[in-house]
Amino acid sequence: MDHIILKDVTKRFPTRDGGSVTAVNNINLTIEEGECFAFLGPSGCGKTTTLRMIAGFEDLSEGEIWLGDKPVSIKKKNHYVAPEHRGLGMVFQSFAVWPHLNVFENVAFPLRVKNMNRTDLNKAVTEALKHTSLNGLENVYPSDLSGGQQQRIALARSLVVNPRIMLLDEPLSNLDPKLRESMRFEIKQLQKKFNFTIIFVTHDQSEAMAISDRMLVMDMGNIIQSDTPTTLYNKPTSKFVYGFLGLSNFLDIEVRDGKAYPTGEPERSIPFEIPEEAGSATEGVLASRPNEIKISREETTGYPVVVEKRLYQTFCIEYHVRIGTQSIRVHAPHTNVLEEGSTAHIEFKNPRWYPHESVEDERARVERQVI
Ligand code: ADP
Ligand code: MG
Repeated sequence: MDHIILKDVTKRFPTRDGGSVTAVNNINLTIEEGECFAFLGPSGCGKTTTLRMIAGFEDLSEGEIWLGDKPVSIKKKNHYVAPEHRGLGMVFQSFAVWPHLNVFENVAFPLRVKNMNRTDLNKAVTEALKHTSLNGLENVYPSDLSGGQQQRIALARSLVVNPRIMLLDEPLSNLDPKLRESMRFEIKQLQKKFNFTIIFVTHDQSEAMAISDRMLVMDMGNIIQSDTPTTLYNKPTSKFVYGFLGLSNFLDIEVRDGKAYPTGEPERSIPFEIPEEAGSATEGVLASRPNEIKISREETTGYPVVVEKRLYQTFCIEYHVRIGTQSIRVHAPHTNVLEEGSTAHIEFKNPRWYPHESVEDERARVERQVI
């Protein structure tokens, strides 16, 4: 049983001014056996702190953590299992390899600590090196290897103890984009082979979506939404999640007589049905993705806009169009050429409604970012 359960987990850190910061705020979460689960969120939202509490490097302020059927942290009972007895593999963002040890000894390190006999140790290290394509490099020192190879050493070292759960904290952030993609794939392959449970921490939304079976989005210590990548992308429950998961336009809207008007546009309403959850709100935002807006010259049922700017991109043409006093981005196929300065018509394919975000929230989020 390799599932992970967090019950009402809170972590507060003291701050220099004598106060405290709630790094993780009463989170509840179950990660199933064999699942690849991503934690996504901006810097300072509490991802690393959560991972460190699961690993046992950080005590809890409140709550419980269970790995499989075993409680590993229960604050109320002061019950705490040390990291080395939690059966975890871990890889962190910085290449935590020892420069004075060659590849073999770096990978063998956790087994030497355990006093494993030589035959078993050689066998385990050889296996781990093979699975991370490092065989043949046993005697090389890390400084003679590339960033990707160094991160593989860290991966091999976490594999060598045959963990049932892998905790990966931004393991690919220091690699170049091409390498990141191939390493993502390798991690998934390893998971298939060994069937361990993975928590993968990242601030990169496409990485989270590509790698995970399920994922959560955190903000200021809270879990905002947790679901499959598809549901999160298509049905974000808040403006914050919408904006975090892909390119987005947020059009300010005023509601008059049940109709939606772009702020600054007195006459013409947008064909958009205000959802029930908006209640009696008189303003809000209409969220849309640039590739989910149809744009054409013809006057159909679309909303008239002015093409302000046209930018050729490799995968589309990007138009900046003026709607009332606001500007939004539209991605159209290369065949759809419109002139700058001309009038066009747009249709929102899958627009969503959200209330405005409070200014205090935005300010608090910036304050939490750790440099
Ligand atoms: P993330 O990994 O999502 O970037 P962290 O978990 O590192 O976020 O940090 C969450 C919050 O907790 C931040 O506001 C950070 O400043 C604070 N924090 C993290 N570790 C410590 C610490 N050891 N002491 C004090 N504050 C900390
Ligand atoms: Mg972090």
